[in-house]
Amino acid sequence: MVLRGISASHGVALGAVYIYRPSDIDAAERFIKSDAVEREKDHYAEVCEIAAGEIRSIHASMAHDKPEKAKIFSTHLDILYDPDIRNEIIEGIEAELWAGSWAIWKAYGKFIEVIEKTKDPVIRERSVDLEDVRKRILRIWHRLPGSNLTSLSAPVIIAARDLLPSDTATLDRRNALAIITETGGASSHSAIIARSYGIPAVVGIPRLLESLRQNGFAAVDALTGEVFPDPDNETQKRLAAKRARYLREAAEIKKFSKRKSATADGMRIDIGLNIGCADDDDLAGATCTDFVGLFRTEFLFMGRKDLPSEDEQFAAYRKVLELYGKRPVTLRTLDIGGDKQLDCMETPKEDNPFLGNRALRLCFAYPGIFKTQLRAALRASVFGNLHLMLPMVGSIDDIRRAKSIIQEVEDDLDCDGIAYNRDFRLGIMIEIPSIAMIADLAAEEVDFASIGTNDLCQYLTAVDRMNPEVSGYYQSFHPAVFRLIGKVAGHFSGAGKQLCVCGEMGGDPFAAAALVGLGLRKLSMGLSSVAQVKRMISRLPILAFEEIARTVQELPTADEVENFLKQILG
Ligand code: PEP
Ligand code: MG
Repeated sequence: MVLRGISASHGVALGAVYIYRPSDIDAAERFIKSDAVEREKDHYAEVCEIAAGEIRSIHASMAHDKPEKAKIFSTHLDILYDPDIRNEIIEGIEAELWAGSWAIWKAYGKFIEVIEKTKDPVIRERSVDLEDVRKRILRIWHRLPGSNLTSLSAPVIIAARDLLPSDTATLDRRNALAIITETGGASSHSAIIARSYGIPAVVGIPRLLESLRQNGFAAVDALTGEVFPDPDNETQKRLAAKRARYLREAAEIKKFSKRKSATADGMRIDIGLNIGCADDDDLAGATCTDFVGLFRTEFLFMGRKDLPSEDEQFAAYRKVLELYGKRPVTLRTLDIGGDKQLDCMETPKEDNPFLGNRALRLCFAYPGIFKTQLRAALRASVFGNLHLMLPMVGSIDDIRRAKSIIQEVEDDLDCDGIAYNRDFRLGIMIEIPSIAMIADLAAEEVDFASIGTNDLCQYLTAVDRMNPEVSGYYQSFHPAVFRLIGKVAGHFSGAGKQLCVCGEMGGDPFAAAALVGLGLRKLSMGLSSVAQVKRMISRLPILAFEEIARTVQELPTADEVENFLKQILG
């Protein structure tokens, strides 16, 4: 049997399937007879032992590479054996005749409530850990399979109905052979993260979960977008050979990653890195990139119950700025909404979230959150070369409104006598067609811009980037996309302002060739694309790329553009 979906991140994988079903484990109020008390207490002790074993093995797997994350799991062990919580549970079983699961639920709930009420944000954060331990114990109590992607015990192909960006961002990437999902499009944020980690991914596969077995074997061809549940010997052999070939080619291309990027006749093209957070895996690309073209700061806000404090944000921004030194770090302000939702912020449900209160609009609606972020960013600016970038700008009004809030934050910092670099650069993302159409006017208002082709394509072609039903209409090779980018590039270079492309097109070697021809001198991408884009750029002189860009803008359809690029650039 073969299942077909959309190839979202290249590669080939063979291995065991892990069906990920995030479950919200709850407990019902239940009572036991008095002669069952000892049995219930014994079961609680056994469950704790199993939970401790799981936590210890996660801790051991992270202790070397990710000591910071490993610390979280030592805390979980402390919570698991906390005498106060334990006594509360035992008392619930003995005195109230509560079923163990209900006693666990109530006891943890009591402590979570107390902690959530404290003023100290550091202590408040502990409630997330208590929740986590409670979930683990109850899952084991009910003999449910584990469903945590942060700590996979062996290499697996992860199959899910849907993966949230927060699931993918916290994924145990060393054990993720591939990601396959029923929903999502190639430019959903989960797909983007998978691509930046270099994990093969196929998304939008109808009836995927009903066609797979937990722990069954599967092969994934993320070059063609095919998944083979229980493949026969011949398919296994064919795909294993394809995988070996793919890895050989990838190793060959990787040789380009450390080189400076230039066309065959020496025109420098700066290559930037797109990152989601400030952890060491993300920052591994610092040695082979000229700048950070997109720091998706919203990832610092995901997968947690409370908002990151100003100091926490400051530490993350400072880390990246210090690492890059004089090289620019483009810190994009919070871009929440669409497929990126926060647990720590209740926002109203919307019928069209991608057209709704997203990104900068949401920051205007919650100025406190926006200002905290701006303050943290400006404080960090003294440690490097800060480029502050506003997402989802639709008008000059948006820019001016944001500028006046930034001015307020600067005034506050001045008042408080806190240093910041007054020469930080302010830029915008060009991802809404309305601002692209007035790029000449926008260029007068800002120091730089970066084209977000993922959203620009979504809004220009009127296609939801998440919806697999219409993914065929989401055409980043549509000639209209290239024509519009060409116009924006002309206006920015005319105004002497820097322009980058930080959407996924910047990391696609074929699209990148046309973008360089359109006048782009800065492209930013996930680490896994850096080498292949550098190699592509090195192949031809600038005049050849310009010729390619001219043709691309004249061709009538996306297919013809793509075929032309693939044919000429092979
Ligand atoms: C884009 O829209 O191209 C972009 C880079 O932003 P995001 O993918 O995070 O929306
Ligand atoms: Mg965007």
